[in-house]
Amino acid sequence: MDHFLYRDGVLHAEDVSISEIAASVGTPFYVYSTATLQRHYTVFDDALAGMPHLVCYAMKANSNLAVLKLLADMGAGMDVVSVGEYMRAKAVGVPGDKIVFSGVGKTRAEMEHVLAGGIRQFNVESEPELHLLSKVAAEMGVEVPITVRVNPDVDAKTHPKIATGMSDNKFGIPISRARDVYALAASLPGIKVVGIDVHIGSQLVDLDPYRDAFLKVAELTEALRADGHEIKRLDLGGGLGIPYERSNADPPLPSDYGDIVRETVGHLDCEIEIEPGRLIAGNAGLMVSSVIFNKSGDGRDFLIVDAAMNDLIRPAMYDAHHDIVPVIEPAVGTTVAPIDIVGPVCESGDTFTKQRPMPPVADGEMIAFRSAGAYGAVMSSEYNSRPMIPEVLVDGDQFAVIRPRPTFDEMLNRDKLPEWMQD
Ligand SMILES: *Cc1c(COP(=O)(O)O)cnc(C)c1O
Repeated sequence: MDHFLYRDGVLHAEDVSISEIAASVGTPFYVYSTATLQRHYTVFDDALAGMPHLVCYAMKANSNLAVLKLLADMGAGMDVVSVGEYMRAKAVGVPGDKIVFSGVGKTRAEMEHVLAGGIRQFNVESEPELHLLSKVAAEMGVEVPITVRVNPDVDAKTHPKIATGMSDNKFGIPISRARDVYALAASLPGIKVVGIDVHIGSQLVDLDPYRDAFLKVAELTEALRADGHEIKRLDLGGGLGIPYERSNADPPLPSDYGDIVRETVGHLDCEIEIEPGRLIAGNAGLMVSSVIFNKSGDGRDFLIVDAAMNDLIRPAMYDAHHDIVPVIEPAVGTTVAPIDIVGPVCESGDTFTKQRPMPPVADGEMIAFRSAGAYGAVMSSEYNSRPMIPEVLVDGDQFAVIRPRPTFDEMLNRDKLPEWMQD
């Protein structure tokens, strides 16, 4: 069920008209649907039914406190990759024992903060990290539960910038070396081995790489247990893809993913953790933008809109596709024509799509980018001195701004002139 539908000729988010939100907050803005976020969390929770499990939302996909609170209230744990994310989880009341800490470059300061505040486990990605973590934990007189992130060398068949499970990238420890690294972990003070971690990439639209990776994890579980390690948790990462293009959508279902988990590692008597990000937040959000100008080029038409690559960088960074629809429903039979949709930023990369068949959208009218709830607002910047666009949350017939647009003064005041320049 889709919670972004036309009603009375206007696109709505649940029961709220996009035009009404735009009139209140101005464009561009992000808007998220509570019902969609809740449904996606529940779908994952249900997919693992019958196995002890914890769904740890990968908050790097969308870390607005309101989004986190909504998921935390449903029982979600959190996967964090920085101390800042850890603080966000804590700020909405997630207990330390439901937070897992991932990432290749955890610093001493981050380790100290997180160990003091409580943590479910560190997902350790290298031997140097293991040594430093042991030192910090021993100094603090605590024992830290860890998994080692293993790199199973499987091809996730996704965009190279978001594939993480092949041996040529920076993530994890080659699975062939895992037994040595676990032996090291077991020998270090302050470290307690509790399981294995794997995450092979993002936007996976084929479940086979998961099966390959989880089978390798199952094999490793047996081997490590034979070596005398206690393996009671398997963190299977995130990465399930979403249908960015609804016209040719055949997305893998979380329920099928759950079946693969059951089939590959279900017999090992482990608690399962998963870290979905995109599938929870992606299709729960739109980015709404107004057309500034319709411009005709040399045999090419452009829709110049008030959102840009600094607001939604996925097309520029990953060649990502977003379905784009007019906020006012086109009349039946309206003809479409190919057009490039671009932002005002001074880079050719600031192009959302090329030659997209679109109905006419007049200057001043709005369009909505679908599937913008994940890796949208969190990756935005103020490039070209464009203030960060606001985020809005809808729940039924109510909406609220959950991150306001800064004023130009606020943006300018973040810079400081050195004393010697002040006169
Ligand atoms: C990014 C990331 C995730 C989430 O990936 P999605 O594709 O958003 O589900 C989960 N775990 C780790 C370690 C990650 O880096």
